[in-house]
Amino acid sequence: MHGRAENLRAEGKEVIDFSIAVSHFAAPQAVVDAVRAGLDQRTPLPYTSVSGALPLRRNLAAKLRRENAIDADPQEIIATNGAKQALYQALYVLTDPGDAVIVFAPYWPAYRATLELLGLHPVYIDLPATLTAADLARWPAAKLVILNNPHNPSGKVFTTAELAALTDWMAAHGAAAVVDESYEHLIFEGRHISLAATCDWRAAGVVTLFSASQSYGMMGWRAGFALAPAPVVAAMETLQGPITAAPAALSQLACDAAFAGGPARAMLDDYRQRRDLVVGRFAALPWIDMPSPRSGPYLWGDVRRLTHDTVGFAERLLEQQRVAVMPGDALGQPGWIRLGYISDDVATLREGIRRIAVFGDALAAASS
Ligand code: PLP
Repeated sequence: MHGRAENLRAEGKEVIDFSIAVSHFAAPQAVVDAVRAGLDQRTPLPYTSVSGALPLRRNLAAKLRRENAIDADPQEIIATNGAKQALYQALYVLTDPGDAVIVFAPYWPAYRATLELLGLHPVYIDLPATLTAADLARWPAAKLVILNNPHNPSGKVFTTAELAALTDWMAAHGAAAVVDESYEHLIFEGRHISLAATCDWRAAGVVTLFSASQSYGMMGWRAGFALAPAPVVAAMETLQGPITAAPAALSQLACDAAFAGGPARAMLDDYRQRRDLVVGRFAALPWIDMPSPRSGPYLWGDVRRLTHDTVGFAERLLEQQRVAVMPGDALGQPGWIRLGYISDDVATLREGIRRIAVFGDALAAASS
């Protein structure tokens, strides 16, 4: 949908694009300053070690201690071109083709694409409101589970009890986990708890992914990292070396400055206000159920009262009202739509919501 929206814009058509969430915030000033200082030194920007410069990894280990209550050494950290590269490399290292991997649906489309690329066998499990031992008892055996905490697109923030139930299940089945914590700083309600802080993460085989993309509005900087047991990091490094080597030296400076900065409070306050605005407007519409997410840059709306054909819904909405949303089909859950609400100015956000309301009201009237 994002590509379609871009194509329409290239044809000179005006489109409001809620299909992805690209922040309207620029990177924090400290990040820009760090990169500028790096350039001003006028020394050659070197190849760093493949897993990232040692001072960066030391600082990231300190961030993990400070913010996530995780004890880690620099050799257990690898800097990557965003969480996506870390995800691919972690799955490549921890699995063999055909292995079963459990993923909650709805899911980030990149999980599905990566599992397909690696010839893995995805097992999609509906995301429960609360994950319990009784749920887990019904899961099939698997080599690995992917946990996105906080969760895109629902905004679910997993509790200590849920994480404990999951680590019990992992221990019972000898399953590893890749935990994507890319939204760790976008929490409106509740508290983010890293799975790795709740267990002996090395023994449990937990790989945790972090990204500056969403936490600091730095999507294009490609700044992320993974925390994994040292042998897993070494294997990820072996894979990363011939493909991209380390992330660009300037992105490493940016990564360092971003994660040194803690949560971006002004950004979070802005997102919260927008979330409340949009959820409030949708609350008045009888054909959509849009819960207020506890975290993240997305709204996840149930339109099954209106239609299960959410691809058709999204296509007609784009044609008729020039608003792009992501059909839930792309996230493994038809009948829902996802809206990224952090990209435009507030007037455009209001206008986009108005158009969706006009479109949905007309559809509801036609089907009644
Ligand atoms: N993980 C999830 C679940 C996401 O939705 C996103 C981006 O939107 C990311 C990670 C960020 O990936 P990257 O760091 O490669 O930009």
